[in-house]
Amino acid sequence: MRKPMVAGNWKMHKTQEEGLALVRAIRAGLSSHGKVEVLVAPPFTAIQVVVGEVADTEIKVGGQNVYCENQGAFTGEISPVMLKAAGCSHAIIGHSERRHVFGETGDLLHRKVHAALNAGLDVIYCLGETLEEREGGQTEAVVERQLNEVLDGDVKPARMILAYEPVWAIGTGRNATPEQAQAVHAFLRAKTTGIWGPNAAGNLRILYGGSVKPDNAASLMICPDVDGALVGGACLKAESFLAIVGAAADSV
Ligand code: PEP
Repeated sequence: MRKPMVAGNWKMHKTQEEGLALVRAIRAGLSSHGKVEVLVAPPFTAIQVVVGEVADTEIKVGGQNVYCENQGAFTGEISPVMLKAAGCSHAIIGHSERRHVFGETGDLLHRKVHAALNAGLDVIYCLGETLEEREGGQTEAVVERQLNEVLDGDVKPARMILAYEPVWAIGTGRNATPEQAQAVHAFLRAKTTGIWGPNAAGNLRILYGGSVKPDNAASLMICPDVDGALVGGACLKAESFLAIVGAAADSV
């Protein structure tokens, strides 16, 4: 049975002080802990204080992004080795804002995934179609291409988590319906079954992301192939993040 994960992507929000207050409130309110794996992804500047605060808990900390080299003349970048040493267990790679705002390509994402895995980080790999692609009937072709961009024989399924995040649903308040999410998750499950076989694909967690809120989380979390959520806006307040964790726990 797959343990759901609820991951909070803080994006470019929260100073150290604000981040500490948020993670303290999450920690204090986490009653359904154990049934759900909980991860927070603060901005790089707050990682250290957040890691310190959750050190004696099961809350995981991830990087929102990572570069594909371990060190060197790459001004402004953070390496996978640095994230690992700072106490991160995961890196989010391929978020639609990285693809669409910062122009990250499949080739770069492939290198990032491998560098993160080599440094001992698990990867939350995001993929999803734009509205134009959905309306053009290309959703499956797009997510399959994005999947194939990063997978090869070196990528071990146990270290990967997928996050289906339709671009049109991120930060818009317009979530995919449970039926739309389930259809794409089932498609990704079938594709990864073809690559890794039924056991590994059966254990693979596929999160849904895109305007997940307390009032829609339960209907999404009960979909058979939805194994948790990657949450943006609603993770910035402990109350709403914890309500989503609760919905994931209730779906188990
Ligand atoms: C995200 O940034 O990954 C995300 C899903 O954002 P939101 O929940 O705000 O749509």
